[in-house]
Amino acid sequence: MVYDVAIIGAGPGGYVAAIRGSQLGGRICLIEQNEVGGTCLQHGCIPTKALISSTDLLRKFQAAEEYGISLGGPIKPDLAKMMARKGQIVTNLTKGIKALLKSQGITLIKGQAAIEAPGTIRVNEESGTPQVVEAQKVIIATGSKPGSVPGLELDGVRIISSDDAVRLREIPERLLIVGAGAIGCEFAFIFKPLGSNITMVELMPQALPQEDTEIARTLERELKKNKIKLFTNNKVESLREEGSDLIATLTNGQEITADKILVSIGRAVNVAGLGLERLGVHRGPKGEISVNNRMETNIPGIYAIGDVVGGAMLAHVASAEGLVAVENALGGHKEMDYTVVPAGIFTSPEIGRVGLTEREAQEKGYTIKTGRFPLRALGKAQAMGELAGLVKLVADAQTDKLLGAHIIGPSATDLIHEAALAIQQGIPAKALAELIHSHPTLSEGIMEAAHSLYGQAIHLPREQ
Ligand code: FAD
Repeated sequence: MVYDVAIIGAGPGGYVAAIRGSQLGGRICLIEQNEVGGTCLQHGCIPTKALISSTDLLRKFQAAEEYGISLGGPIKPDLAKMMARKGQIVTNLTKGIKALLKSQGITLIKGQAAIEAPGTIRVNEESGTPQVVEAQKVIIATGSKPGSVPGLELDGVRIISSDDAVRLREIPERLLIVGAGAIGCEFAFIFKPLGSNITMVELMPQALPQEDTEIARTLERELKKNKIKLFTNNKVESLREEGSDLIATLTNGQEITADKILVSIGRAVNVAGLGLERLGVHRGPKGEISVNNRMETNIPGIYAIGDVVGGAMLAHVASAEGLVAVENALGGHKEMDYTVVPAGIFTSPEIGRVGLTEREAQEKGYTIKTGRFPLRALGKAQAMGELAGLVKLVADAQTDKLLGAHIIGPSATDLIHEAALAIQQGIPAKALAELIHSHPTLSEGIMEAAHSLYGQAIHLPREQ
């Protein structure tokens, strides 16, 4: 049969596109070489968050006395059980996606796909002869894989990627994390409470180089409080082995001795073997597939979505692009809009961001005003014993519209959506201040930060 749409890759881009395609009445084929769920479910978002749930609980137990709880003995993490719990969560969600695909009547083929010509895909199945799939339209959703740097070649044992880190069997005693972006920082907060001695190296002047500087500085203070060493403006210049030690020399001459090195310097797009050169599909400077805002490549009938098109490599962005691509592939007219893309970083405390940073807004020519509110001034944060945190809002001084929101604190990855909706709907910042927020909640921080845009935060001393 000739499918309406064949989708290569069943990550959060591909499988979501497949389901929507079927809901729209299309005959859909989804081709995946490994397991459905892609990086997000098998090695990324979900495994890390499952481990973070364990280590967050561990951290709470480590502070139990402060909360008036005597444990009556030492507590110790059991990495094998944590990994087993994580594995069970991944298995359950994998089964869930397969059941959804089945219920939608989507054909799922396991194998590695290569596009022979627009509409013709050769699938090398694990066992048996290659299969040819015919489809009117093709969506490439092949995602990304861990990036590496010369001199720090991944070996999966001592020099590891995030894929390996979520499968470790032993807690590394001394861990060097190269790259203090979102992934590197999340792993620092996973392994520190487990007892690892952690050093981080970052090329840029701050941890989380993409984030607002005040938010990043707040996180850097938390790294310091947790005795996680961070060297910014540095990289690993050379590496040598002495017995069982890995010794990295940094730009500043400092030597760091480690048992394992986790390389988290970014992701490389997954396009090998797809046949893009043969087809003449245009690519960008990092090898990413170039697309327009309808998610079309330069080859008619071939679309691309998710990490493989570069941009913000986030699961929900891949899914949003998938919805646009499949609707267009089935004759619709949808365009991607990246103005409001919330993003979360699951450190301790968490970080949520949406819209523009102060610097980005200024670079775009806005005259801005900023409002801030430290979470420690909230009753809820005090009750929770989670005092480190800040809500920062960036608004257009001329129109009062909210341009960006940046939150560091407990549940920041959830809290950010109130601001996301405000930006999407063009709601004036004043409305956020005037919306009654229930007490005691962390959301009051957003209301207070909005009041502070007008110098009227209730729980901040008057500025002199
Ligand atoms: P992928 O999820 O990479 O899926 C692509 C699929 O295509 C894979 O299953 C692959 O096997 C398959 N494939 C590739 N080539 C072929 C081929 N030739 N034939 C058949 N199949 C093929 N994002 C968030 O939003 N929130 C988070 O908290 C978060 N945490 C992360 C933590 C880590 C450690 C990592 C590594 C990533 C994290 N991400 C997070 C990013 C997120 O995982 C990705 O943005 C997302 O998975 C991209 O989805 P995708 O569908 O584009 O590609």
